[in-house]
Amino acid sequence: MTKQNDREWQYTSAAHDAVDERHHGSINIPIYQTSLFAFETYDKFQQATQSSQSHHVYSRGNNPTVRYLEDKLAELEHAEMAKCFASGMAAISAAIFSVVRTGDHIVCVDQAYGPTREFVHRYLKRFGVKSTMVDGRSVDNIREALLPETKLIYLESPTSMMFQLQDLAACAQLARSRGIVTIVDNSWATPIFQRPLELGIDLVVHSVTKYISGQSDSVAGVVLGSGQLVSRIAEDEYMLIGGIMTANTAAQLTRCLRTLPLRMERHERSALAVANHMAGQPYVLQVNHPALASHPQHELGLIQMNGSSGLFSFESAEPPEQMRQWANRLRLFKIGVSWGGFESLVTVNPANDACTSEARSLIRLHIGLESVSDLILDLDQAWAAVSAADSNIASAAD
Ligand SMILES: *Cc1c(COP(=O)(O)O)cnc(C)c1O
Repeated sequence: MTKQNDREWQYTSAAHDAVDERHHGSINIPIYQTSLFAFETYDKFQQATQSSQSHHVYSRGNNPTVRYLEDKLAELEHAEMAKCFASGMAAISAAIFSVVRTGDHIVCVDQAYGPTREFVHRYLKRFGVKSTMVDGRSVDNIREALLPETKLIYLESPTSMMFQLQDLAACAQLARSRGIVTIVDNSWATPIFQRPLELGIDLVVHSVTKYISGQSDSVAGVVLGSGQLVSRIAEDEYMLIGGIMTANTAAQLTRCLRTLPLRMERHERSALAVANHMAGQPYVLQVNHPALASHPQHELGLIQMNGSSGLFSFESAEPPEQMRQWANRLRLFKIGVSWGGFESLVTVNPANDACTSEARSLIRLHIGLESVSDLILDLDQAWAAVSAADSNIASAAD
């Protein structure tokens, strides 16, 4: 299957299941609202406890409703196995814990999700795990940071503030040649637009809270990869740290999954339209969106992704106070963290080191499912209102 032509099977995968006679043909998986599973005989009980991955013994380990969602996500991501967690961070910390031990070293991209960097760089120090943060845009940076004791290369492509990419195939090749495990946070692209396991990456993690949910009503995570790596996580970190997903959350997320391909296409189209519009605005210095030809890693994006989602940022020479006034005047965009839901969102931050030298603000937009022309009108009216307020102040001062 070529990268460009493989969108359609995802619709079938998300929407279709064989008739399941165990559930009377119910077309939705029942919510197995149970903590434990009982057995008629001790023999059957012992058989199940000996292979608790393939049997149902206790819901901290393996609940049928959660397993259903895990199998669905594994199919979409082309993974042998998936394990769902209570949050993205529960999935990320479990995946990292499964790879490192005292004395090991991690190379991590310096623009990764903030709490992930905190976990790797600060929290893991107490266990004697060291780390080096690198600009992941060049594989050479990653190679130069490797130590004999490096056991993990942690990636996030694209990153979710500056939208910087890593060359996933090259990173995977480098890591494999040294016996190092690779993890990629794929929350931005989702399996609809990027499947890192096909590029040789060992483990994929998602904040399911974002696009896979899409409804801004749950917090959840998943780890995906080979049966060998993920079943180890299921037996150790899932069972022992216990950040599990409940059957209710899994059922809710299964509903969300049905429309994932549909929603992603809408987010993609709308975000591109808004990003192109923003690129022409006088208060915008630069738009950071991997699918725009102006993005410095646009070509790499075309190679390793087959689409783009609804979150991007732009840089402005206006100070954050001014852009916050602009954000206050937006009617359709709400001010808030997170992203991936039906609703459009905005955050305004001071420009960081990765921004262009003239930039004073970094504004992140999530483009939701509203009318794209309404969203563009909203962005424009808010700027017109802020500019008018400015010129009133200026003329009052004259
Ligand atoms: C939100 C987020 C996470 C953490 O996920 P939670 O579900 O909030 O724990 C991880 N990575 C990225 C890129 C995120 O945006």
